[in-house]
Amino acid sequence: MDIRFDGRVAIVTGSGVGLGRSHALGLAARGAKVVINDLGASTDGQGSDASAAAKVVDEIRAAGGEAIAHGADVSNEAQVADMVEQTMKKWGRVDVLVNNAGILRDKTFAKMTMDDFRKVVDVHLMGSAVCCHAVWQIMRDQKYGRIVLTSSASGLYGNFGQSNYGAAKAAMMGLMNVLHLEGGRDNIRVNTLAPTAATRMTESLMPPEALELLQPETITPGLLYLVSENAPSRVILGAGAGCFAATRVYETEGVMLEGDANTPEGVAAVFDEIQNPEGQKELTDAFQQTRKYAKKAADAKGLK
Ligand code: NAD
Repeated sequence: MDIRFDGRVAIVTGSGVGLGRSHALGLAARGAKVVINDLGASTDGQGSDASAAAKVVDEIRAAGGEAIAHGADVSNEAQVADMVEQTMKKWGRVDVLVNNAGILRDKTFAKMTMDDFRKVVDVHLMGSAVCCHAVWQIMRDQKYGRIVLTSSASGLYGNFGQSNYGAAKAAMMGLMNVLHLEGGRDNIRVNTLAPTAATRMTESLMPPEALELLQPETITPGLLYLVSENAPSRVILGAGAGCFAATRVYETEGVMLEGDANTPEGVAAVFDEIQNPEGQKELTDAFQQTRKYAKKAADAKGLK
């Protein structure tokens, strides 16, 4: 069955260029009405320019689609509230939110100013939280919502010189995990995309042959699936060059150290066993961990 978005309204943040532009064009080509949000900032988050968003709107309209532009800074609650209000006035609903806007301020942690740390967290983490919050009640009332957060391999796995960006991008997983639990009963599904693409953000970091393979359009099919009617929820989808993979967090079976054995030396002695991946499991809410430890302790003590 074709994946379509007819009658659906989507907001894509940071969609004047790069990945966001590709996602917005992909949604519009399959019938969605799209809000092209873009502050038009430089890669390090300076300045603003409405022209890129206007160009994407023109492209969508020229192809027979429907789109409007909005220049909200995603980290500014009042501006985002205005964007959502304009969207509701125009189309009366918000079905899809793609949190994609982003910036970089790379420095080693030794040289990082806290202003640069805070700014990156503001745009990625607070920007995503602000946008999710602004559409949350609308999606709850509609009993329909599809949200994607944009993470990065830097957050999931680490990257030298990106403590601010890595921390903000890893936070997407935490936000997704909780919104997934809270949104499920109202048919709000929340997923995370971890892309790697040739955009202005990465053009100086990779050789031309790699950039050629990593076009944003190779990632957008994964994004479209994550915001579709039959989307999964709580998935972290890695995507690049047409390759898609899932990232998961597992917890090992664990080792119980009772009474006198529960010492730092005791932990050191069983550390290899603690890390043994055999039998590891993906936990899907916080209390699964608490229950697991309490049960192990109770079993060790012979309690029911
Ligand atoms: P890009 O620089 O090409 O596009 C980012 C867009 O976000 C720009 O249009 C910019 O104006 C907009 N933006 C920046 N700050 C904003 C704000 N406060 N409010 C609204 N819009 C704002 O970058 P891209 O490579 O297309 O990245 C898109 C997303 O994907 C980002 O979240 C980025 O961190 C993430 N990502 C990209 C890669 C990659 O390889 N390109 C890898 C991992 C994650």
